[in-house]
Amino acid sequence: MHAMLLKKVGTPLEWTELPDPQPGAGEIRLKVTACGVCRTDLHVVDGELPNPQTPIAPGHEVIGRIDAIGPGVTGLQIGQRVGAPWLGHTCGVCPYCENNQENLCDKPLFNGYTRHGGFATAMLADARFAFPLGETGEDAALAPLLCAGLIGWRALAIAGPGKKLGLYGFGAAAHILAQVARTQGRAVYAFTQPGDVVTQDFARGLGVSWAGGSDQLPPEPLDAAIIFAPVGALVPLALKAVRKGGRVVCAGIHMSDIPSFPYRLLWEERQLLSVANLTRQDGIDFLQLAPKIGIAASVTTYPLRQANQALDDLRNGRFDGAAVLIP
Ligand SMILES: [Zn+2]
Ligand SMILES: [Zn+2]
Repeated sequence: MHAMLLKKVGTPLEWTELPDPQPGAGEIRLKVTACGVCRTDLHVVDGELPNPQTPIAPGHEVIGRIDAIGPGVTGLQIGQRVGAPWLGHTCGVCPYCENNQENLCDKPLFNGYTRHGGFATAMLADARFAFPLGETGEDAALAPLLCAGLIGWRALAIAGPGKKLGLYGFGAAAHILAQVARTQGRAVYAFTQPGDVVTQDFARGLGVSWAGGSDQLPPEPLDAAIIFAPVGALVPLALKAVRKGGRVVCAGIHMSDIPSFPYRLLWEERQLLSVANLTRQDGIDFLQLAPKIGIAASVTTYPLRQANQALDDLRNGRFDGAAVLIP
């Protein structure tokens, strides 16, 4: 097999030949057919997450077909198409796992961060954390659902049922979530970098009610806002944009420091929350819903060997929607 390996934080990924991995107990091996590129992969490569482990193959929006099954795996078959998300393993016994909060597990493993992910031609996955995907939909179009879609879905639940929803940072996650929110009858307000009219037009093409720069206030106060961009300065801006009792949800794994802000922005029972990881139930719920509502992910594909280019293009906002690597 081959992988685009991160050998040292802050250096480019390297095309590397590795022995074919053999699945251990409870594991499956996937022949990877597509893997999305997420902002979290950039945080891994840049060393912005704690305890970086190298060498590592990034990638946690993995679509593949099972080509080997380890001992003790039931309910999965050779040739079946599955998706492997960010959450790669949980301990099952910590207070969070026992309380239906496995997203907060004390001893988790994450695909593409603390176990090898999908920037590769093959990968091993814990079979309990692989989602059967059926045969509807193209591999490349499904890949971004595995994180951008799922994290957006979890963030939407935490944002509450409000009808007026702001999305700060209109990338892979927001462009999927805008479609979900619209089918739920919500009005979506898209905030981009100031002056990014191309992305604002892209958002309008997906039916948002309003699109503008993050330095602008929406035409009416929002019920909730979700921040996808890793920019702490957006927190006070989003608090300013929500109504009394409104919620602001930070959906990224990493963010630059939040600047100090006057208490009156939080006053009147505004809530500031964060979303971490996902549970398997989030995945089951969202991946059942996605084909029913016909989510169309806008993807730019790259050959696996061009993973560094894809990461660089993501960093510099050179495409709208999501990037996907094809082995
Ligand atoms: Zn991700
Ligand atoms: Zn646990």
